[in-house]
Amino acid sequence: MAFLLLVAPVHAQIDPRGALLERTGWDAIAAGQGAAAANAFREALAADPKNARLHLGAGMAAALERRDADAKESFERALELDPKLTRARALLGQVLYRMGDLSEAIRTYETLTADTPDDRDARDTLERWRREAELHDRMNRAIGSHFTVSFEGPAEASLAAQALESLDRAYWRVGQLLGVYPSDPIPVVLYTAEQFRDITRSPSWAAGAFDGTIRVPMRGALDKSAELDRVLAHEFTHALVRTLATRNVPTWLNEGLATALESGDVEWAQTQVSKAGHAVPLRALQSGFGRFTGEQAELAYATSALAVRRMLDEAGGFAVANLLRDLGDGGDFNAAFLHRMQRSFEEFLAGPLY
Ligand SMILES: [Zn+2]
Repeated sequence: MAFLLLVAPVHAQIDPRGALLERTGWDAIAAGQGAAAANAFREALAADPKNARLHLGAGMAAALERRDADAKESFERALELDPKLTRARALLGQVLYRMGDLSEAIRTYETLTADTPDDRDARDTLERWRREAELHDRMNRAIGSHFTVSFEGPAEASLAAQALESLDRAYWRVGQLLGVYPSDPIPVVLYTAEQFRDITRSPSWAAGAFDGTIRVPMRGALDKSAELDRVLAHEFTHALVRTLATRNVPTWLNEGLATALESGDVEWAQTQVSKAGHAVPLRALQSGFGRFTGEQAELAYATSALAVRRMLDEAGGFAVANLLRDLGDGGDFNAAFLHRMQRSFEEFLAGPLY
């Protein structure tokens, strides 16, 4: 999910040092530097703890760093101090949604849209979340030891059972490879193609999505069990990546791992790249693929899969898992890569794609 941080700071400080710290904080947020922003707002709050705007800033910094529980607390504190600080309410709703608390997110946006009746985006978001909640209320659940699968009608019950089995196989196969086994059950929702597009707003080529919940459009995938296995293993791998690192993971690494581990083989990816006549430079694949057309996306996934396959072959799954942990802890990418892969990223890039 895209996390929108709208930066429009108000500078009404009297204390010059506090004003400077606040300015530093907003500038860091505008630049996407969560840690620097968090430091600046923490210091500013020490001198001025009842300033709602500073709590808003601290919340935004935490949200940028994906410390969602901290972000929630800061936004709530900001709203206690100033209930009309609508930006804090909008961001609180987004964080609650991201944390999987759909009903609280809806309640927050109900207040928000009552306060800001002209905000179309907020109204649209609220409507979408309500549709999602209604749909989930109607759904049935199949519960396994590592997953809970939600699905709509009794007709899908056998599909859900099949999905649970497939997920369980992915759990052991991918878990063993990376040495990671999530302990909390992972929620999975099976949608129709239309529901999937509506709720995830994913591009039409997307076969699944993960935002804390694995969301999969059924679109006949269940007739072909190999396709189902592939899609579920892909999304499960994203869930594993999330347990290792909630931030700082380049998209090529996240998608490459998910794609390389869909099944054992990456021959299709080699075919894609040679058909296109070129691979996409990994540095151009740092952030989301949602902007790509179907064809561009295929090449981006193929390139990412080949790069990660080579990392797995050269250094092993545990090393890749440790690299992800380092990145999630805020480690510098080049330093972490060198440490875990035993060669520099530059050197890796200069090598053959696969
Ligand atoms: Zn993916």
